[in-house]
Amino acid sequence: MNLDLRTMLVMISALNLLFSGLLALVELHADNIRGVRQWAIGCFCTGLGLSFAYTQLEPPGHPWALILGATFTLAGAGFQFNGIQLFKTRQCNPVIPWLLAGLTFLQSIWFVLFYPDIHSRTIINSILLCLINAASARALFVHIEQPLRTAYWFTALGFTVLTTMFLIEAIIIFLSPANTYGLYSQIPLNPVSFFTASMAQMSIAFGFVLMVNYRLTANHQKLASTDGLTGVMNRRSLEEESIRLLARCSRTDEVLSVMMIDVDHFKSINDRYGHQAGDEVLKRLAVVAQQSIRSNDYLARYGGEEFCILLPTTLEKDAWKLADRLRQSFAAMSIEFDGEVLCSTISIGIADTKHAGLEFASLIVAADKAMYRAKHDGRNRVIMYSVHARA
Ligand code: GH3
Ligand code: MG
Ligand code: MG
Repeated sequence: MNLDLRTMLVMISALNLLFSGLLALVELHADNIRGVRQWAIGCFCTGLGLSFAYTQLEPPGHPWALILGATFTLAGAGFQFNGIQLFKTRQCNPVIPWLLAGLTFLQSIWFVLFYPDIHSRTIINSILLCLINAASARALFVHIEQPLRTAYWFTALGFTVLTTMFLIEAIIIFLSPANTYGLYSQIPLNPVSFFTASMAQMSIAFGFVLMVNYRLTANHQKLASTDGLTGVMNRRSLEEESIRLLARCSRTDEVLSVMMIDVDHFKSINDRYGHQAGDEVLKRLAVVAQQSIRSNDYLARYGGEEFCILLPTTLEKDAWKLADRLRQSFAAMSIEFDGEVLCSTISIGIADTKHAGLEFASLIVAADKAMYRAKHDGRNRVIMYSVHARA
């Protein structure tokens, strides 16, 4: 391939510096997403390192340009790795980029100033770059959160290409006669590897931006579907979920139950202890309800002090057992707030698709009727629509 190394190196170092600016701007609007700053620093270091490396194209390069070029490039790869760790797990080992930079700095000093050997220096640098890029690719490939899958794979692919490329470089340089081939020598392999590395670097930077974009979208979707006070689903997302569940019921003849929960005399809790105490009661109710249900049930705050639970493949009578356990757990709870101990109870109405039909609205009306019957009968109880509330 007749590509000019010089132009490519200038382009890729300039692009890296540009990406670092772009990522710094992304960070300004990344809310509380972590890691973006490390990526910006990483791209800056890589861009700077490659600018220094430019001098290696006309050997002998200035010794300090060689040393600093390698040091900054490796540090850049280390910062990118740490950025990925922070983005995914919110923690990282801050020593990694400095350790990589330190190692490269020392080995470069040794093989440039004391024991000049372009061969060993390039092989060690290639191996270090191969290892850190492999670690970044691995970090992206494992424990993938579903909505970000495509973005992770896209970025990880860039790192995998770099890993493979540096591995091949290390092997080829190792097998070639001493002091002839370097990473920046005008050998036929280098234009190909430079082109590949440039593409990989670009896809990594785009991948980072894509990851932030996906994460922000996922965060906003979560925000739009959860209740701000209790953290459980809100009514809108419950209704969306019910459409999917009821469609399955009509296809498979499975039964779905709905539980409508209402706090008893909640207004008097607010009046007596204040609105914040009432909020605390709602939060605690959401916690016990979440703990009482199974992993495939759906708990939502339906409105004010009302919660609703969808129980797929569950008959009314089985839902009743679960509801009564929840009622007892909540009644037995003492909620401490501002030095006061509050006790509260709930009334629950239950309906299922077998008796109330396959419409979400009719299920809610039926569960509501059962719940009002529970209120009427003295509160702190669970009523089934088919048994006590059917007109
Ligand atoms: P009942 O046993 O018949 O259900 O009586 P209740 O007092 O619970 O029922 P009512 O519907 O009269 O009162 C509901 C109260 O819930 C009124 C409203 O101010 C309060 N409320 C609604 N949303 C919130 C909230 O987010 N936080 C707090 N603290 N109170 C809320
Ligand atoms: Mg109510
Ligand atoms: Mg109430």
